[in-house]
Amino acid sequence: MDIDSKLIEATRGFLDPAEGMALHEAAMEASRRGPCLEIGSYCGKSALYLGSACRCNSQVLFTIDHHRGSEEQQPGQEYFDPALFDAAQGCIDTLPHLRRALVAAGMEDTVVPIVAPSRVVARAWATPLALIFIDGGHALETVYTDYTAWVGHLIPGGLLLIHDIFHDPADGGQAPWHVYRLALASGLFEAEPRVGSLGRLRRRLCGQVPQDLGTIVANL
Ligand code: MG
Repeated sequence: MDIDSKLIEATRGFLDPAEGMALHEAAMEASRRGPCLEIGSYCGKSALYLGSACRCNSQVLFTIDHHRGSEEQQPGQEYFDPALFDAAQGCIDTLPHLRRALVAAGMEDTVVPIVAPSRVVARAWATPLALIFIDGGHALETVYTDYTAWVGHLIPGGLLLIHDIFHDPADGGQAPWHVYRLALASGLFEAEPRVGSLGRLRRRLCGQVPQDLGTIVANL
């Protein structure tokens, strides 16, 4: 197994080890067919699971993050981590932590960090993807945008993974769950067994991405 458990454990993040292993296994399969993409790098914990699989197949993992922290990670919010606050800039900056993790793992030749909001990157994206992992901001608009902006780049048979799927609002925010259901309702995907809060959908071999995803939202 090409996973450095100690490094992963020492890397900040909100990912259960079983979910991490499921990410790794999904990327082992998908990266035989094409590059993988993660939305929401944070400090690199999930990139280590995904990237180690991509490295086995001499493939690339793109990982996108603006690195300013999501809504709930800002000062005064529930998931604020003072160690990630850059006083000189006056804001969160997780990029140095991601870079340190990638260097420590020897993954600079495998994992390509992209520093920007995902919707901005999507405006100029043209590379087909074998796996998309959505784990960025948890506001409904953010998760919805991460889905609609990228789903058209997923190859038939490719995997769409969505983190933090919670049925019960007491367990966590509902936006990823809503978008998971939206993806299923589109008819583009078949559900595969979930692992913890990690939803797994496989794009069917036929079917087009609808022009107007908003009508599906209205009908949910
Ligand atoms: Mg998450």
